[in-house]
Amino acid sequence: MQIREAATIIRASLTMEQVVGVYLPAERIRRRFIPCPFHGEKVGSLKLYDDSFYCFGCHVGGDAVDFVGKLLALSPADAMRRINDDFALGLPLGESTMQQRLDAQRRGSELIRQREAIAEARRRRVEAYSELVDKWTRLAVQMRDNAPTDRDAPYPVAWVEAAKQIDQAAWELNGAELPEGM
Ligand SMILES: [Zn+2]
Repeated sequence: MQIREAATIIRASLTMEQVVGVYLPAERIRRRFIPCPFHGEKVGSLKLYDDSFYCFGCHVGGDAVDFVGKLLALSPADAMRRINDDFALGLPLGESTMQQRLDAQRRGSELIRQREAIAEARRRRVEAYSELVDKWTRLAVQMRDNAPTDRDAPYPVAWVEAAKQIDQAAWELNGAELPEGM
């Protein structure tokens, strides 16, 4: 199969955290950062994204194949073979039949579809959470701007309306899961 196809499937199959877990098993991942193995530091400057990495110290970045290749001093093709073996991905690297290529392609697009569905669900959670924050903020502002000033007058209608709803809004916000990355 083509090197480019294989790289796409590897990116879709493995997260960078899984890759680090296998090739740097002693490293503790803190909030997606690890100490960079490429410029020998103690602090964590290398950030792990789902399918790529980037070091803010030495500016090395790339995908899983780049990471393993650089870490183990392997060519991209050898890094792919190594990943293929270590994670038992079963990619037909090198000589392969048409059927093997089609199977691998299908598996690759299936994985990419799954990845996209997860990203979409995360996007919807962020949106729903932002809506709750907006609603609560709107009510809080409405209460502040219409706060009762005259003890003897009836409460302003706008204040009463907001006051009725704000507890419900706060309750919904407390119950909502804060999406990752917010
Ligand atoms: Zn670095």
